[in-house]
Parts: sequence; structure tokens; C-alpha cells
Amino acid sequence: MVILIPKKMKVKFLGGTKEVGRSAIAVRSTNSQILLDYGVLMDRTPGFPMHIPPNDVDAIVLTHAHLDHSGAIPIFHVNGRKPVYGTSLSFELSRLLITDFIYLSGYYLPYEYIDLQNMLDCAIFVDYHTPLDIGDLKIQLIESGHIPGGAQVIVESEEKRLLYTSDFNTIDSQLLKGASQADGEIDVLIMESTYANAEHENREETEKRFIEKLYEVVENGGTVLVPAFSVGRSQEILCVLAAYDFKYSITVDGMAKNANKILAAHPTFLRDYQLFMNAINSAKWIKGWRDRRLAAKKPGVIVSPAGMLKGGNAIFYMNSIAKKKENAIFLVSYQVPDSPGAKLLERKQFVLGGKMKKVKADVDHFNFTSHSGKTQLLDTAKKTKGNAKVFIIHGAEENCQTLAQIIEDEIGLETHAPKSGEIYTI
Ligand SMILES: [Zn+2]
Ligand SMILES: [Zn+2]
Repeated sequence: MVILIPKKMKVKFLGGTKEVGRSAIAVRSTNSQILLDYGVLMDRTPGFPMHIPPNDVDAIVLTHAHLDHSGAIPIFHVNGRKPVYGTSLSFELSRLLITDFIYLSGYYLPYEYIDLQNMLDCAIFVDYHTPLDIGDLKIQLIESGHIPGGAQVIVESEEKRLLYTSDFNTIDSQLLKGASQADGEIDVLIMESTYANAEHENREETEKRFIEKLYEVVENGGTVLVPAFSVGRSQEILCVLAAYDFKYSITVDGMAKNANKILAAHPTFLRDYQLFMNAINSAKWIKGWRDRRLAAKKPGVIVSPAGMLKGGNAIFYMNSIAKKKENAIFLVSYQVPDSPGAKLLERKQFVLGGKMKKVKADVDHFNFTSHSGKTQLLDTAKKTKGNAKVFIIHGAEENCQTLAQIIEDEIGLETHAPKSGEIYTI
């Protein structure tokens, strides 16, 4: 008699559980083990995922360039050459973001620039919707709608199929098409929950309100600072301005310029390449301090990192723009509690010239998020075929638990909000 032993898949959560940061998941089949992301937690000093012996890992799959998914991968390239799979664009953008990360936080990192270079040498470019074998596992990347080059991952072992959404947005933006829905039955669904507690306003309404308010400020002689993340959000804002044919001066500064150049060289990753090229060509790219000082005084819009006003050239602009009531600061991304951007929104205060001061300029927030909201997250769980076991990660503790409960109650799927170190056998 032949006894058939079911071929199980093991999933271990190494980070990014009940928090946003250091995303890392190990997936094991009979003969192979891969990592899905290996990111860092951006805190005062960077935090890392749980350790996993490099010898036990066959390969790493990178879902997108954000440091909370990519920032710890070079650890595997200090003394080794581990293959890393991802889209070509994700590697280009990772090079930009990790280089800057080493420059700013190198003291706290267990790797150096040469190890990043080694990691990039180990890159294997993957096209969307093109399955690929890693040992006895098969992976496939599908579009995530989150940032250019971003992907969700489908992992297949002999008998099981897993979908890891990573960060994803199912709604079309100016820059990207909404996320693809995975085909076929899924046994394990690992989903983010950054915005599990929020319903997003209709995108078009946000855009219109944003443009109207920009005109109001600029036509009264004011300058608007839009602090935005260098990769993704800055380009989305430039595309919104181009789509609505914004008539006044547009300036772009900081690392957003490097990201513009990289995206311009990857046309197939964008929803509307012509719109993107119009957007970046109609903006003035800051070349030095003279440009910067002039831009800060001229009526118009300035798009500059950092998105939460934690640093970057946005700080220079704040010092000049915040002091005049005809100006405005429009925040366009999620503001982590306690970040300078969050404090600015809550109290209209900001550190100017070394002291916490009242901001005279108008302050407003527009939700141009690139993460799915509550409705989109629930829809994704509903639309997933098969009787998947669901794991909710990449969100504040409360968000992970609440979303897990709602999916279990309303959709009837077994759902967990795992802790780091937990292993599930499926
Ligand atoms: Zn992300
Ligand atoms: Zn993330």
C-alpha cells in the first residue's frame, strides 16, 4: 500500500507583523525555502526582521523598492551571493533608496555600499505574469498598483498556492493601473492592512479639491509646498498637475528628481507614459541653492521630499513658506503619529529656525494614498478564489486584529493576525 504524505507549505513571519516596517516572510516547501521581502523598520534607529540562517534560504523575492521591504536584503550579501528576484525597476529604485539609506543611517547598518552592489549583482529580473522556478517552488509576480515596479507574489509548491499582496492599491491612480487580481484558487492569502481603518475618499474628488485649493492659494500670490515621498508620490502629484493642466509654476526638488529619471527610462511600468513625460517636463527641476531660494518666493507649487517633513529639502522650504499666511503646505501622504508632518496637521506647529513655532501658512491634507482602503481590502479577500487561510500583516496592531476579525465574521475565512516568529503549516 502506498501512503501519500500531503506536501505541506510552511509560512514563518519574520517581521512586519502588527506593525508597518521590516516586512519579511519565509515560505518553505519540501526542498526549498524563499524569503518574501526583508525590510527595515524606520525608527530613530533602524529595526530589522528576525534572523534566518542564510544557508537555509535559496532566494529572496523583492516586491518593491520601499525600505520597509528592501532595506535589509543586503545583509545576505555581506558574505554571500543570494539570488534576489524582482522587477528591473524595483532594483533601480532600490539602488536609489538604499544608497540614500546607507548615507543617512550607515552607522546603524550591518552592511555597506559594497554589499548593496553585491546584492544588485545578484538581481534576477522578473517580468509580470511570467512564472519562474526556484527549486520546487514556482513564483509569479503580478502588478500591485502601489509604486512603479511593485508586485504581489504568487508562490506555488507542489500542492499549495500562496498570494502575498505586499503593499497594494486596487484603485487606478494617475501614475499606475490598480492592482491585478490573482487567477486560480489560493490556499494562503497574506495581506497588508495599512489603511484597514479608513475609507478612502473618491480619487477624482480628492484630485479636484487639491487642484481647486492650489489655484486659490497661487492666484492670491502664495506658494504651496507639497512634501512628498521621492519615489511614487512625488510623480503621482506631478501627474495630477499635468492631467488637470495646471497653469502656474511647478517645481520639483530632492531625490524625486532621480526617481523621475529612472521612471522615464521604464515606460512600460507606467499607466500613461505620455502624461508622465508631460508631467516631469513641465516642472522645473531644482539645480542648486539659487533655484531653491527663488522657487520659495515665487507663486506656484513645490513638490519636494520628505513626505512626513522628517528631513530633505522640504525643511528648507518650510522655513520660508510657513511664515506667511498667503502660502500653504499640502500634505499628501500618511503621517506617522508623532512625525513632524502629523504635528503640523494637528497643531499647526513646526520647528522653524530651531524653535517650535506657530505656522501662519494654510495647512491641509489630501489623501493620495497608494494603499488599499478598508473596502478594497475586504473586496480582495472576497474575490480570492478557494478557501484561503488569511494572514493580516503590515498595519498597526489594532488594524491587523480588526481586519482579521471582520474577514472572519463577514467572509467566513479563517483569519489570523500573526506575531513575529509564528510558523503556520498549510
Ligand atoms: Zn510600500
Ligand atoms: Zn510597506
